[in-house]
Amino acid sequence: MSRRLNERVQGIKPSGIRRFFELVVGRKDVISLGVGEPDFSVPWSIRESMIYSLEKGWSSYTSNWGLKELRYGIAEYYKKFGVDVSGENVLVTTGVSEGLDLALRALINPGDVVLIPEPCYVAYKPLTFLAYGEPVSIPTTPNFEINYDILNSYSKFDPKILIINYPNNPTGVTYNRKKLEEIADFAIEKDLIIISDEIYAELTYKGKHLSIAALNGMEDRVVILNGFSKAYSMTGFRIGYAIANDEIIKAMTKIHQYCMLCAPITSQIGALEALKLKEDELDKIRAEYIRRRNFFVKRIGKFLDVKMPEGAFYAFPCIKNTGLRSEEFAEKLLVEKGVAVVPGNAFGECGEGYVRCAYALDMEKLKVAVERIEEFVENIKSN
Ligand code: PLP
Repeated sequence: MSRRLNERVQGIKPSGIRRFFELVVGRKDVISLGVGEPDFSVPWSIRESMIYSLEKGWSSYTSNWGLKELRYGIAEYYKKFGVDVSGENVLVTTGVSEGLDLALRALINPGDVVLIPEPCYVAYKPLTFLAYGEPVSIPTTPNFEINYDILNSYSKFDPKILIINYPNNPTGVTYNRKKLEEIADFAIEKDLIIISDEIYAELTYKGKHLSIAALNGMEDRVVILNGFSKAYSMTGFRIGYAIANDEIIKAMTKIHQYCMLCAPITSQIGALEALKLKEDELDKIRAEYIRRRNFFVKRIGKFLDVKMPEGAFYAFPCIKNTGLRSEEFAEKLLVEKGVAVVPGNAFGECGEGYVRCAYALDMEKLKVAVERIEEFVENIKSN
């Protein structure tokens, strides 16, 4: 342990996803199902609004909170997911990543317990730990879900916060009203705050996304995180937002004003335009993902056990029948067949025995990738 560095920083590992991403850089033959990045271009109307803003020379800071029209536009937009809040309760952030960090830092006192159902997005545990919280992993059911009984068996840890993410990265699982009610009952009973990462809300293929903040008794105890990276292919613009009650959003903004000042103005202008996209344009994006999902899951399901993802753009096949561990599978597949996937244990221990495949690629590449994975798996099985 170095005396120079913060102990908690030394206690976390670099992201398992990035490690695989680095292995792929510079290899032209590799098809990457590794990074969760849409392959669509940003819709033209969004790009045009940003170009226009640059032509006008709009390059200043904005209010720490973000552009007022954008905050009010986001509040209006969230009615779609059942939530009715004022624009005053919206903070514009540099992606969900920043919103998550702010929420954890604003809420956690040293030693507070944060429940994290796994497999989950890679940032939840390290950011909790860096905020001096104590992350407690909750393994989900074989269908990768949580329910009241599972949550209740973790009450003994005296938790303060629960992080949920649906549609989920890496499993593609999402929650309907009934399932959300079970989670909400537990949160109310134990007086928990829920951080609800809804970044894939627009990419819901089964039913319609409902925010847990829309349920009775929840509006005051949920921090919603969402952003423009995924549905609008705006990953590089680093733009997202948080919605929470007055007390929490003001505390988050206090941190944001010192560490970030504001989200980039050009990205905020693009986000404002993104909110104007018509439902049928979003339907087209969803239809394309559904087409890719159906193809990929059907093909891979012929030789690996895989559940139909209900949202996001990831499939999470089980690779236990190959006898390999997740990391070994991913490394060999990359070296021998030039296909990058992410080992499931990057998303928590109960992801061991699975790999995450992002199907946000065009059909031609997906076809080749799945053929190569099949050859790889059949070869192992026949040896
Ligand atoms: N939350 C989840 C569940 C994600 O999958 C990702 C990115 O992969 C993020 C947050 C980060 O999003 P952003 O680009 O808005 O920082």
